[in-house]
Amino acid sequence: MAATIKFCGGVGRVTGSMHLLTANGAKVLIDVGLFQGRRDDYYKINSEFPINPPDLDCCIISHAHIDHCGNFPTLVTKGFKNNAYLTPSTRDLCRYMLPDSGHIQEEDIKYVNKINRRRGRPPRNPLYTKQDALNALQYLKSLNYHKKLKVAPNVDLTFFDAGHILGSSIPTIDIPTKKGMMRIVYAVDLGRPNLPYLRDPEIPEDVNYLIIESTYGGRSHSGIETTEEKLLKVVNKTIDRGGKIIIPSFALERAQEILYFLARLLRQKRMRSIPIYLDSPLAVKVTNVFKDNWEYFDKETQELFRKGQSPLSHKNITYITDVGQSKGLHDQTGPMIIISASGTCENGRILHHLKNNIENPYNTIIVVGYMPEHTLGRKIVERHPMVNIFGRPYELKAEVVVMDSFSAHADKDDIVRYVKACGKRLKKVFLVHGEPEQSEKLRQKLASLNVRVSVPKRNEIVHLF
Ligand SMILES: [Zn+2]
Ligand SMILES: [Zn+2]
Repeated sequence: MAATIKFCGGVGRVTGSMHLLTANGAKVLIDVGLFQGRRDDYYKINSEFPINPPDLDCCIISHAHIDHCGNFPTLVTKGFKNNAYLTPSTRDLCRYMLPDSGHIQEEDIKYVNKINRRRGRPPRNPLYTKQDALNALQYLKSLNYHKKLKVAPNVDLTFFDAGHILGSSIPTIDIPTKKGMMRIVYAVDLGRPNLPYLRDPEIPEDVNYLIIESTYGGRSHSGIETTEEKLLKVVNKTIDRGGKIIIPSFALERAQEILYFLARLLRQKRMRSIPIYLDSPLAVKVTNVFKDNWEYFDKETQELFRKGQSPLSHKNITYITDVGQSKGLHDQTGPMIIISASGTCENGRILHHLKNNIENPYNTIIVVGYMPEHTLGRKIVERHPMVNIFGRPYELKAEVVVMDSFSAHADKDDIVRYVKACGKRLKKVFLVHGEPEQSEKLRQKLASLNVRVSVPKRNEIVHLF
């Protein structure tokens, strides 16, 4: 039995995770993530697969973040008709995440084609449409944590909990060889211990090969415990001066994490009673999936649900999907918190809330996620005195507070601890899902501990056994 792995995407960068495992003829694609970057690269890279899609035996999807599952509809449009395995919660989340992504692609291409028409260029097609995404859902097959399943000839799959977001998994693949079973473990993305409501990341036994993320391979996070205190301080300060708090947030995970902290602060009466609005149709759908999947949370959170208390609900919290209700927030006075998407402030309802609130020095914008270069979010983080919203300049007078301790990714120390816990049978560690500088720092650290480790290049093929 021979096995190779080709590191195709999410290599030397953090988006577009995709790797091809070949084991004695069986071909398995691990993650089908969407590469996010400049538009021309975006269309080129996301249209390429390392194999003719119908030739794959199956896919494995680690979790519902778009950079890990978001290119699956393209794979289906190119002829893939087999099973894609994921956990039950990831499947439930994909039902909303993938069609939403299709909708965003359609909107983007409308904008691109408007420009193309003006410049006399031919129109382009979206990578996939909302309908393509809905059609792709039929191939998603759920497999619960800790249940072993034969997913291709001589390939067994078991999911362990990655503790990164709801439904996130560490796909663990067992392949028989003459010397016994060989185990390949894929910890991309890996969470960190003590995140609110999630279970801590699990470590499978007898790991032979470990593929692990290195997003924060050279950095240490401040503890999640201090996050709630900092949030409380910023919120109270803004309430005291009568301002509004605007929080741009990703619809999956970060929005729920903030709601969790705010609801807890309200329940404990540590925060003054002000209205909180979650204004994002996708975030509202995702939050409802959270409520339906409470058995996958940590013990403390399950206990709350059992007592009939949802940790994501409170009488002060209103979920908004309706456009009219969203617009109505603009006329409402007094302190309030508005959580809205997109997380990078590039599109979505957050733009309206920023437009209406950014010029008031009593207001606060809390940045809770990574803001990539060239986005409005990054300009806010860098406190540009003027920013453009809907093509019009606005003065950035609101206070900007950046909270970077919300990360759901393992840091350098967490990853080193994880690798050490993998045990004596570990033959090699591969570092993916990281900017080169972060991966290299982690590689040096692990090499100094006598771990056999490498940072594969994009499209490198490694012969495992
Ligand atoms: Zn992720
Ligand atoms: Zn990721």
